[in-house]
Amino acid sequence: MADSLNIAINGIAGRMGQQLVAAALARGHSLSGGKEADKSAHIGRTIAELTGQPAATGAVSERLETALAGASVWIDFTVPAATLEALEHIAGRGGIALVIGTTGFSPGEEARIAEAASRLAIVKAGNFSLGVTLLQGLVRRASAALGPEWDIEISETHHRHKKDAPSGTALMLGEAAADGRGAPLEALRSAPYDGPDAARAPGTIGFSVRRLGGVIGEHEVRFGALQETLSLTHMALDRSVFAHGAIQAAEWVAGRPPGLYSMDDVLGL
Ligand code: NAD
Repeated sequence: MADSLNIAINGIAGRMGQQLVAAALARGHSLSGGKEADKSAHIGRTIAELTGQPAATGAVSERLETALAGASVWIDFTVPAATLEALEHIAGRGGIALVIGTTGFSPGEEARIAEAASRLAIVKAGNFSLGVTLLQGLVRRASAALGPEWDIEISETHHRHKKDAPSGTALMLGEAAADGRGAPLEALRSAPYDGPDAARAPGTIGFSVRRLGGVIGEHEVRFGALQETLSLTHMALDRSVFAHGAIQAAEWVAGRPPGLYSMDDVLGL
């Protein structure tokens, strides 16, 4: 078991925030506090009350400093604007590592995170599950081995509340596929197929998105030649898988030198 950490959670009342509290406690850590949006009805409640976990310490606050007091790691599953606000505050303060699970950043926002990683140790992943981390490597390998005459299509399904599309995981898998072909994803990404002139361009990587009920997260990468196809699929069956991966990342990153790290680094893959 890793040394016990004092962890701050941004977006603590969210679907992932609540899972993170349970996973942190299950792995023997304590909580310095949690931050929520100014307008949240949960401001001022104890984390124990919010989550129904009597062992949880700390309270829900709209103030970064209150949530951060005494923390060594900040875990953030919110929205891009909230993550960037926290990132800039923590970069000015120092001494705290970050685990970022939020998705949907623009390229400019991604660059701001990379720049902050010259001063902070950050683990960032669009998906903290072991299965998807392994899947990325398999996709990179298949894409390199199969060559550009094979079409690549990535499809994802998520619950109806998800804001960004395609998912951060689908984009990560697209980057792995493009990497296998020695190009950045922006150079190979297909426009959505829609309308009378929507034929697939050779060598491109296509994305399709479904939003359906309570689906936690399903991803499929299909490779297709004229005579055969190959499919690689991942399904998240429980949100706790992301939370346990994120706490594992927190244990790994606490006290590390500045840098932008991935789940490959955390898992030693
Ligand atoms: P959610 O909407 O249930 O939770 C987000 C929480 O952030 C909400 O409680 C919201 O009030 C809070 N928030 C918004 N603005 C805030 C602010 N300024 N300060 C503090 N809190 C603020 O969403 P979710 O399903 O928990 O997902 C959150 C993010 O994590 C999304 O970007 C999602 O795509 C991503 N996600 C990543 C992984 C992964 O493994 N990397 C897994 C699941 C979800």
